[in-house]
Amino acid sequence: MVARTIPVESFDLVIFGGTGDLARRKILPSLFRRMRAGQMPADARVIACARGKMSRKEFQDLIRDSLEEFIPAPEDRPAELVDAFMDALEFVTLDAKGETGWAELGKKLRADRVRAFYLSVGPSLFGTIAQKLHDHELATPESRIVVEKPLGHDLASAKELNRQLTANFDEHQIYRIDHYLGKETVQNLMALRFANALFEPLWNAQHVDHVQITVAESIGVEGRGEYYDKSGAMRDMVQNHIMQLLCLTAMEPPAKFDPDAVRDEKLKVIRALDPVKPQDTVRGQYRANGEGSYLDHVGNPDSTTESYVALKVAVHNWRWAGTPFYLRTGKKLRTRMSEIAVVFKEVPHSIFPEVSARKSNALIIRLQPDEGITLRMTIKDPGPGGMRLREAPLDMTFADALGDNPEAEADAYERLVMDVIRGNQTLFMRGDEVEAAWAWTDKIIADWEDDHEPPQPYDPGGSGPEDALALMHRDGRRWREVDG
Ligand code: NAD
Repeated sequence: MVARTIPVESFDLVIFGGTGDLARRKILPSLFRRMRAGQMPADARVIACARGKMSRKEFQDLIRDSLEEFIPAPEDRPAELVDAFMDALEFVTLDAKGETGWAELGKKLRADRVRAFYLSVGPSLFGTIAQKLHDHELATPESRIVVEKPLGHDLASAKELNRQLTANFDEHQIYRIDHYLGKETVQNLMALRFANALFEPLWNAQHVDHVQITVAESIGVEGRGEYYDKSGAMRDMVQNHIMQLLCLTAMEPPAKFDPDAVRDEKLKVIRALDPVKPQDTVRGQYRANGEGSYLDHVGNPDSTTESYVALKVAVHNWRWAGTPFYLRTGKKLRTRMSEIAVVFKEVPHSIFPEVSARKSNALIIRLQPDEGITLRMTIKDPGPGGMRLREAPLDMTFADALGDNPEAEADAYERLVMDVIRGNQTLFMRGDEVEAAWAWTDKIIADWEDDHEPPQPYDPGGSGPEDALALMHRDGRRWREVDG
């Protein structure tokens, strides 16, 4: 299948924190791949700003190395394209908090093109940078500003962050990234639901028994323990990524595929979430014999921060009344996998004598590994003999279904950065969505704090704490396996 790539308008993309990990690992390699795909206009420019002193040449060398590291196959990095990409890079030494560099940045910006400011720095600098952009008259009414998690620590800090951004930028200029929304499968969830007649009639409490959303990671918090220990799984994963997956699964069809129509519907889901009862929550912390425990990784023997959370959640509206959503996420689990499983109700009456192999239908939307969609069906075991049933998947792995279309594997950041340039906010979170998600999350965390119960230990490499299994078992249900 031939990829259709429509070039975007020419742009100046300013990356504050342009020498940092996020810029080197994700943003710049993604831009390179967009250039390779022919989407980045030849005169587009990326202006990296960072505090450290560095010449343009030194910055280009740093990014050359980053491309080698994060796009390892040499055939994916043709030399002439790498050179062209280097030509598009500029560097300005700039202190976000001081005066150094702002005038120089101003001189580099051109008037006649899209202007976007990507704040790839800690959130404590968001407000300062937004203000400086205004003071130095670098932000035009159509400029875009891009920010990324953590978007607050609780409702109060999220409101303050929104206040700082909206003091100098209009909501239509603010792009809050949740990179899960850039994933091919996540968008396919919308296509699946709203462009096919097949599923929507079944997509409700009458036919869906329950929904499971899992984001499992095999790594622990090594290397980022200090940050993580102040956050925990609830703030780091549930408030943002899992909430977005829940919204897209549960939302009503928007009247049209436009940013505010989609985001209005997502917001309604968050507002329809019942407060979660403490007995419907499970917190866990990985513990190993010897080294390798969460407590070692964060360097805090008394930490009660959770590295795992499971929740039973009710969406209190007409469509979902009585259908629970089970959410779970954790570090140091058996494997790295993320999926949404929509588990349908069983047939009302079985005509077949052998029931052992019968399982209800499930639609599994897999985000990683191998993005794709599977429909679990019950079929007849092939061959002569009795009428035995067995489970079989109808499988659509995108890499297979779309042949060699490289677009299917486009990194979420490629899509999101290009959407910023195109001025399309559909896949970005609106301020009120972020705040509503925090209001709901805060209540759960406050209950935990009142409760003083420590998180339940679980073994690294397993599938999480036992109480999480019990959360499902007591409802006569089971989690799907955590496996690749
Ligand atoms: P980092 O520490 O690797 O890089 C920070 C960058 O900010 C550096 O380029 C540094 O020079 C610059 N900087 C710091 N203070 C500055 C100042 N006063 N003036 C100008 N520049 C300054 O951090 P990172 O991992 O790239 O993360 C950046 C932000 O993105 C953080 O808030 C992080 O939580 C978030 N984030 C990172 C990732 C990731 O994969 N690394 C993923 C999601 C979100």
